[in-house]
Amino acid sequence: MEVILAKTAGFCFGVQRAVDIAYKEAEKGNFPLYTYGPLIHNESVVKDLEEKNVQVLQDKEALEKIDKGTVIIRTHGVPPEIYEIIQRKGMGLIDATCPFVKKIHHIVQEYSEKGYSIMIAGDVTHPEVQGIMGWCGSAKVYVVQEVSDLEHFQKAPGEKICFVSQTTFNAKKYKELVAVSEKYRYTDIVVNTICSATDERQKEAKEIARKADAMVVIGGKHSSNTRKLYEICKDECNDTYLIQSLEDFVLQHPEKIHTIGITAGASTPKKIIKEVQKFVRDE
Ligand code: SF4
Repeated sequence: MEVILAKTAGFCFGVQRAVDIAYKEAEKGNFPLYTYGPLIHNESVVKDLEEKNVQVLQDKEALEKIDKGTVIIRTHGVPPEIYEIIQRKGMGLIDATCPFVKKIHHIVQEYSEKGYSIMIAGDVTHPEVQGIMGWCGSAKVYVVQEVSDLEHFQKAPGEKICFVSQTTFNAKKYKELVAVSEKYRYTDIVVNTICSATDERQKEAKEIARKADAMVVIGGKHSSNTRKLYEICKDECNDTYLIQSLEDFVLQHPEKIHTIGITAGASTPKKIIKEVQKFVRDE
């Protein structure tokens, strides 16, 4: 069986940076130390950090209950009110928001201050999108995911709209949304804010899935970029598996598979990818 491992599989620049920051602070013994939300979508990394006394604050209510220590903001970023709460309490703040996400905050802040409404291609329940919405100030915000979300869209007379996307949004879907929004002149400014790491990972996954008889996508069940990867691979290769670790992996009909592809989401540690690769090769 030929095994093709994606070069882009595993930690992206933003995740690697956040993980390095958290481990460095834990090593310094800078306690109490918290992350606002699980640092990355990988249970083994979050558990390991917990063992090193890096605690997870699940939400704003949990943050309101503490008064001492340092809070690490994860790659997804947060709305301005979270910075305000930490500063009001006089606690330490380490900002590990990915610079690509920070760039979106600056764009939506700038255009909302100029009087634009903001349209975001993304998942409204995702923390990154909620963080972006927080930076839109008093602007009207629309979150869209599918072309059908634009079907009954009504732009107010004189309304100007700036269109951005969640960093991990499916590039093909974003193109379709932009095409529709431009056709009906819904949007006035379009900034493609899908991060290049996501874009490259998606393109490579698609290419591998096209050639493979079976495709394995490794990543956390709450990871948006992993789910998008799965969708992309499934479109090209019907026999696509989404797994969190080697334990969930049961390869059906291995005798029919000549080529198997492996990719992984941005929060998947190298160790898990290597385990799956080794298993596929050896077993
Ligand atoms: S996927 Fe892109 S935007 Fe998200 S953390 Fe990684 S580098 Fe940053």
